[in-house]
Amino acid sequence: MVDKNILLEIKNLKVQYSTNNGIVHAVENLNMILNTSETLGFVGETGAGKTTTALSIMGLLPKAAGKVVEGEILYKNENLLLKNNNDMRTIRGKEIAMIFQDPMTSLDPVQKVGDQIAEMILLHEKINKKDAIEKAKKLLVTVGIRPERVDDYPHQFSGGMKQRVVIAIALACNPNLLIADEPTTALDVTIKAQVLELMKNLKKEFGASMIMITHDLGIVADICDKVAIMYAGSVVEYSDMRNLYENPCHPYTKGLFSSIPDIFEENVERLKEIKGLPPNNMEPSKGCSFYPRCENAMDKCKMRKPKICKITDSHYVNCCLYE
Ligand code: SF4
Repeated sequence: MVDKNILLEIKNLKVQYSTNNGIVHAVENLNMILNTSETLGFVGETGAGKTTTALSIMGLLPKAAGKVVEGEILYKNENLLLKNNNDMRTIRGKEIAMIFQDPMTSLDPVQKVGDQIAEMILLHEKINKKDAIEKAKKLLVTVGIRPERVDDYPHQFSGGMKQRVVIAIALACNPNLLIADEPTTALDVTIKAQVLELMKNLKKEFGASMIMITHDLGIVADICDKVAIMYAGSVVEYSDMRNLYENPCHPYTKGLFSSIPDIFEENVERLKEIKGLPPNNMEPSKGCSFYPRCENAMDKCKMRKPKICKITDSHYVNCCLYE
């Protein structure tokens, strides 16, 4: 029976990139579920497969090099990987929108911001340009920008304001799913807090589901309902927020928590780094990919992949320790 509460389900996703040096196994057997109105955090180091997963959902993998080789991406129970380019163009923006890390890669420097927001509206709605501009002004107000700035160009805005414009474009057609890829990385601390606050409020107002890609557990605690901890292209731990923070299980997740400072802890020497380097994605291991860095590693961990183990109904971990 189809669970109507599930908005997005990814099953056994495998994504590879062809490079001059060989095949990069960017995502390996990734599974996840996102329910309606939920915010899911994708957390992990650079190269963990977070952005590749997002680009696969959007159908925006680099054409020549990137390829989904296995799996399903079910959005409203329909496999996005079977859609043609025209269908995906309609889905992008109207159903699923993405906010990228650097606002300048999303904005056209020679087009007025109002026109850029209106363009997205005109692409998906049957309204005239004048009404689209009026709607663009309202969206600017929604993201905290005065409507008179509709005729300004991107270079007339600060970094934080540009990211607000990008958020306005993403919201232009009221998408059901918003994917935000490190949306605050390029911003300084105070602006970052403002943009996050804005995203939290918009999520409440628009009721959209969200995937927040980040390496920052503070952002996750602030904004997410559930978290998928990613390592070497797979989800190694998947949990609701409370369980993850109260009882992190995977040795990599525990390492992430030990490596962030606690503002109430005076003894900063207790901060621990995760020793070693992320694995080479060109040579996927037969066993657990965290094996070379894991303090709890056992012989069996290098022989085969760990199974998915249930900790609670909303908390799962891929680790031999829990089998
Ligand atoms: Fe460590 Fe083994 Fe668990 Fe991998 S499966 S994280 S090596 S204990």
